Amino acid sequence: MREAIASKLLSINRHGGIIAKQYVVVDGHEKTPLRIATHAHSDHLVSFSRSVNSGATIVGTPLTLDWVRAMGYKVPERQLMAVGYGRPIKIGDIEVVLERACHIPGSAQVIIETNDGLKAVYTSDFKKPLVETPVIEADILITDATYGNPSYVREFDDYIELILADLVRELLSKGPVYIYGYYGKIQEVMGILRREGIDAPFILPHRQYVLARIAERHGLNLGTYLHANSSEAEDVMRDGWCIYLTHINSRRRANNLGNHIILSGWEFRRPYRRISKNVWLVAFSDHADFKGLIKYIIEAKPKELIVNNVRSTCGDLFIDYVRKKLSINAFLLP
Ligand SMILES: [Zn+2]
Repeated sequence: MREAIASKLLSINRHGGIIAKQYVVVDGHEKTPLRIATHAHSDHLVSFSRSVNSGATIVGTPLTLDWVRAMGYKVPERQLMAVGYGRPIKIGDIEVVLERACHIPGSAQVIIETNDGLKAVYTSDFKKPLVETPVIEADILITDATYGNPSYVREFDDYIELILADLVRELLSKGPVYIYGYYGKIQEVMGILRREGIDAPFILPHRQYVLARIAERHGLNLGTYLHANSSEAEDVMRDGWCIYLTHINSRRRANNLGNHIILSGWEFRRPYRRISKNVWLVAFSDHADFKGLIKYIIEAKPKELIVNNVRSTCGDLFIDYVRKKLSINAFLLP
């Protein structure tokens, strides 16, 4: 059995790009007049320069487009089209709308609708369906199934923000705290810690600082944060009451001062564990777990589910589950 409805409107190429007719490609490269960037993570910006060089207009939320350029991707101003959530773009016989997604700041889902009423939704990366990521009903739902294996479940997902804030608070009483995560996740965590009432100054290396500045300009509340090379940051570091946030691959981990928290999306058993004297692993993910993915699908009631094979794990298990347990036609593409 092949996908019957989806093939009228879209396909997925080997970069994981979702192509809607000859007009639009989402998160991949194809020779289309529009390329949509759902968010500023590199696995969604594959072959980005090829799209720019082919003259495509790059569409994204204002924050995403600013972040993409801050990360070093070059795009001439005239090729950028910043679009807020809920604002339709018409091209050919389709209409495209970006909708909010809870993942990293600026993230979007993409709704593609044809003139004759066929509606497809690409969730891109998301978490907290229904709560912070709106679930959109669609004829065709496309998702990446980041955690496609039924065993990829974090029972504590609903409380992890509180657990992380409590751990940071406790460790701060003993000295500086270092937090390691991917771009975007760091700025998300900064916002969460502020919301949970932690007001110790943040210290950020250059790129994290630039991304934070942009996110703040677009409305994120990040409180006090300092550039790691500034003299104020040196004073604060000497004082010891601060949180240093940096990329997960940073070498600061080797440092024996203070406590170190590594944010991992691949820990399922416990919300956090101590992996050495002053290093902690916290199961903080930017993606819905298996249960969250299924919840989205149940609520969206698609006639067909397409799982993007390029960016999923255990996609075959996932479509098998959806077919058998939810009785929805599900396909793995490409
Ligand atoms: Zn992502």
